[in-house]
Amino acid sequence: MLFLQSPPPPPLAIEHVTLVPMERETLLVDHTLLVRDGEIAALGPAGTVAVPEDARRIDGRGRFLMPGLADMHVHVWDENDLFLFVACGVTTVRNLFGDPLHLGWRARIARGELVGPRLYTAGPIIDGKPAVWPGSVELTDPDEAAAVVAAQKEAGYDFLKPYARLSRACYEALAIAGAEQDIALMGHVPEALALGDVLEAGQRTVEHLGGWAEAAQRSGSPFVHVDFLNEARAWHQVDEARLPAVAAACAAADTWNCPTLVVLSKWAKGAAAEALLARPEMRFVSPEAKAAWLPTAPLNYLTSLPQATVDAANASVPRMQRVLPHLREAWRARGAGGLLLGTDMGNPYVVAGFSLHEELELFVAAGLTPYEALRAGTADAARCMEAGDEWGTLAVGMRADLLLLAGNPLESVAHARQPLGVVLHGRWLPREELTAELERRAASFEAR
Ligand SMILES: [Zn+2]
Repeated sequence: MLFLQSPPPPPLAIEHVTLVPMERETLLVDHTLLVRDGEIAALGPAGTVAVPEDARRIDGRGRFLMPGLADMHVHVWDENDLFLFVACGVTTVRNLFGDPLHLGWRARIARGELVGPRLYTAGPIIDGKPAVWPGSVELTDPDEAAAVVAAQKEAGYDFLKPYARLSRACYEALAIAGAEQDIALMGHVPEALALGDVLEAGQRTVEHLGGWAEAAQRSGSPFVHVDFLNEARAWHQVDEARLPAVAAACAAADTWNCPTLVVLSKWAKGAAAEALLARPEMRFVSPEAKAAWLPTAPLNYLTSLPQATVDAANASVPRMQRVLPHLREAWRARGAGGLLLGTDMGNPYVVAGFSLHEELELFVAAGLTPYEALRAGTADAARCMEAGDEWGTLAVGMRADLLLLAGNPLESVAHARQPLGVVLHGRWLPREELTAELERRAASFEAR
């Protein structure tokens, strides 16, 4: 078991390494980066950085050092998954359905008592009545919105997650209360509203490209109103010529989009579901978490969906990928809004950490460069959280969450898949230790 507590780690110097700072598309060859007290204390050309005598020295020759990755859409309920993120180089997550459990983890991770990524968390989902998910807050009276916001802020949640069944009046009251109390809305486009409405209300993020299919329907499409049930089919009725205007509207509103493509690519039933459950990374998922993904599990919402809906969801992924270059262009034109790398991990067959690398591949397959794809999970992710001066790039004073890689990630995102080592808030975790801990867990799961 890896424990982070006990004596604080000595300074760490990674020498003669190629830095991938992610602030812009560049490489800094033969550099040395010094970590102290959880932060980047110095960096510069090797030889110009004084390495303290008690520092642990890592030879970075031929290797690449980049900021840790962020999964900007997770649902983590199982403590085991916190380690899977780290083992895969995910050093920050944004959790989209919060509970006191997450506040506890966030504090323990920050204190170094628990190995896990830096955690941002929503409060409980704010929905209408009846809420889609148990445990949500049901907001049915606009006059109660301010109190709901105050309670979530007071509890320590980082942002608010509006959801599908909020009425227009309640959503608008929630947006006003969020603005007044300075806590961002990050979430869905409620079914009673259109994408344009949430942009106008100043929602910070839109998840799953919600509202996009409706906003870009071709003329004559049978889908006038798009909801959860027909959305996958509606993606096939999108007029691509309408996408640039939607992207421009997002950028004009400075609203970020987190497409979470991988979750739809993994919608599966029957034999296809069994095949996903047989993938090698499933050994590292706890039996409790996996039980909810069995095709027979009552909690597995895919079980009750018709096969045609599942097929349409899989087939909507290439349609959704076509949005990404338009978002990139809109971001370039305005320097606002942008793309976030996120997985919807926690949903069936979407495994913590491993799935973020699949999302990276989907971003590249959509036409983004490796740099653009990685940025959505580093520098841009931090900017979206208004933390661009804390993490997401390599600079003095930034949090030391780093990945040491065998290959150049700007050539191929696959090089980020298996870091040779992860620096987690200043602590060096070499691959051998990460792998040993993964295997220890897999063995204990198999023994149950
Ligand atoms: Zn989600």
